[in-house]
Amino acid sequence: MKLGELAPMVGNQGSPESEAPTVKAAQFEYCRPGSVRAAVDALRTSGGDGKIIAGGQSLVPVLAMRLGRPSVLVDINRIPGLARIESIDDRTIRVGALVRHRSLVEQRAMPLLSEAASWIGHTAIRTRGTIGGSIAHADPAAELPVVAAAVDANIHVAGAAGTRTLSAAELFIGPLATSLGDSDVLTAVDLPLPTRWGFAELSRRQGDFGLVTVVAAEVDGQIKIAIGGVGPVPVRPREAEEILAGGSAARSRLAEAAKAAAVAVTVGTDIHASAAYRRAMTEEFTRRALEQLTSSVSKGAA
Ligand SMILES: Cc1cc2nc3c(=O)[nH]c(=O)nc-3n(C[C@H](O)[C@H](O)[C@H](O)COP(=O)(O)OP(=O)(O)OC[C@H]3O[C@@H](n4cnc5c(N)ncnc54)[C@H](O)[C@@H]3O)c2cc1C
Repeated sequence: MKLGELAPMVGNQGSPESEAPTVKAAQFEYCRPGSVRAAVDALRTSGGDGKIIAGGQSLVPVLAMRLGRPSVLVDINRIPGLARIESIDDRTIRVGALVRHRSLVEQRAMPLLSEAASWIGHTAIRTRGTIGGSIAHADPAAELPVVAAAVDANIHVAGAAGTRTLSAAELFIGPLATSLGDSDVLTAVDLPLPTRWGFAELSRRQGDFGLVTVVAAEVDGQIKIAIGGVGPVPVRPREAEEILAGGSAARSRLAEAAKAAAVAVTVGTDIHASAAYRRAMTEEFTRRALEQLTSSVSKGAA
């Protein structure tokens, strides 16, 4: 499902008769199913023109600016069981799609997740926004997709043909684009718990999306790196990971790995930063995340 399938943003987005620009959504039907199955059915019967609403923190602005005009909004907020965090085993937690960013900050099972969520927007946004919404929205600069990519999360999806599990690499296919189908509901995310981790983000002001966000996570003895804001999807710089293979991560290798990470990203110049600056910051913030990881104490399996 692509938020990229949006009405072109040209001229007046209001009604054809009106001259004034609008900040109100176009008309839509609203339904509030009581189960995942009913949500999938509601999306299916909308003929590909329905949208899930979870926290609304990304979707409502899209509707208000009429960048999207779904005919049906499927509100999943009352579906029981989707707002839980539970342990699958001592190495993995399952986070339900409706767990709010604020609860991610407050939980203690996965400190990396807490740190990453604390960088999202402002209090009001963290209070409403959900992990499922953030991952389904797939903003390349958002923090939670970077965490999901770094730890090789498994994402559970319910759709018309039943349930399935996708890796982060299978899910994220482009900026604001995922491999989710029109009637798919993301139900939960399984996150392996890193034994050591580092998180480093550069943003211009507190609460802004990151210009560069780096997560380094040691999982099963391997150091994995994911970088947001520097490509259409979170980037895994494989060469940098290979430099650190075996988990030894001697300090002398961190600079070398950070340099390799900066080569792996796809950067362009935009209103926020030049390509050269973003690449330089990728190297710097990768080094910082790796240093944080190597200076932290291993937490064993969990
Ligand atoms: C001012 C502002 C600042 C922000 N700053 C940041 C930031 O710094 N970092 C950051 O990461 N985010 C930021 N956000 C976005 C915020 O994190 C959103 O909460 C998040 O992107 C979407 O989560 P949501 O629950 O609000 O989803 P919604 O807005 O309800 O939905 C977003 C999209 O995901 C789909 N969707 C939602 N849930 C599901 C599901 N379970 N299954 C399938 N599809 C689903 C919807 O149909 C929609 O297409 C900001 C938002 C605002 C308004």
